[in-house]
Amino acid sequence: MSGEKSVILVTGGTGLVGQAIKTVIEEEKQQQKSNNETWIFCGSKEADLRDKAQTEALFEKHKPTHVIHLAAMVGGLFHNMAHNLDFFRENMAINDNVLNASYKHNVKKVVSCLSTCIFPDKTTYPIDETMVHNGPPHTSNYGYSYAKRMIDILNRGYHETHGCTYTSVIPCNVFGPHDNYNLQASHVIPALIRRMDDAMQKGDSTFTVMGSGKPLRQFIYSLDLARLFIWVLRNYNSVEPIVLSVDEEDEVTISTVAEMIKKAHNYPGEIVYDTTKADGQYKKTASNKKLRSLYKDFKFTPFETAIHDTVAWFKQNRDHARL
Ligand code: NDP
Repeated sequence: MSGEKSVILVTGGTGLVGQAIKTVIEEEKQQQKSNNETWIFCGSKEADLRDKAQTEALFEKHKPTHVIHLAAMVGGLFHNMAHNLDFFRENMAINDNVLNASYKHNVKKVVSCLSTCIFPDKTTYPIDETMVHNGPPHTSNYGYSYAKRMIDILNRGYHETHGCTYTSVIPCNVFGPHDNYNLQASHVIPALIRRMDDAMQKGDSTFTVMGSGKPLRQFIYSLDLARLFIWVLRNYNSVEPIVLSVDEEDEVTISTVAEMIKKAHNYPGEIVYDTTKADGQYKKTASNKKLRSLYKDFKFTPFETAIHDTVAWFKQNRDHARL
């Protein structure tokens, strides 16, 4: 991308990851970097990407040379379990429309977003980029998972048929400012942050975590993921997906996450676990070996710092956060 003028359209630009990319780009602008790049961040108000005509009109308006494609119907375990058909149909429509509009408008590069939670349920660990299609996903989120896997199929097809450089990244669980804190739709970290804030406001002396607290997860801070996304856009030119995750040894249990959130909130009560609720997959450890081989010295924000900053953001912005 260096030297040429580029217009980068970010779909899902109003969401958790999109807003983090915007923050990093604004930081770069203050340091007078990325002069030849014009960044456009779009949400569903600009265009409902399930609709082909609206998608094409968005591309016609902005004429992007590059696309970071984040827009998706996204949700936590319980939301996924209740709406698998919607997750499949909506995400299939969004992805087909965005990639086809990219092709028609001669977009040079598209970086789309898969997720580590779409990998096969029965697998060996650690999971890596070569294993996306190796078996059925966990039944809880099969709609989201199969729709995400089809992005990789589209990328390969556009490359084989038209020579396009459309690729995808595979982040682990993301958290940070601008997350979705709505309890019906949220992932584990925003749900715990919001519910603990509610518990403190009510003066509850115990706080219940759904499930056993034992499952292991890798979490990436949205600002770290944003920096890696921008690096992929500028430097990674393969159609093969690339895992964007913290290191394997940085995997944590849900109970560790809950304790860190308790510390960041300064919550004085006790945490208890409701083991009658589903845990989801016990673990889904992903290997970031490929990322480390290409970008050796990337420094992830320490988990505790990132949780602390996210809780601080939520407390300051609760009134206009997505609740
Ligand atoms: P958010 O829920 O925070 O944001 C979703 C974004 O998609 C919003 O900007 C939303 O726009 C947009 N969007 C949703 N539906 C439509 C639509 N029909 N038309 C146009 N835009 C739409 O998601 P995240 O930032 O968390 O996720 C970004 C990407 O990262 C997704 O592809 C997700 O699958 C992936 N991912 C996320 C992980 C996570 O832990 N959060 C983990 C791994 C991957 P608006 O708000 O304006 O409606």
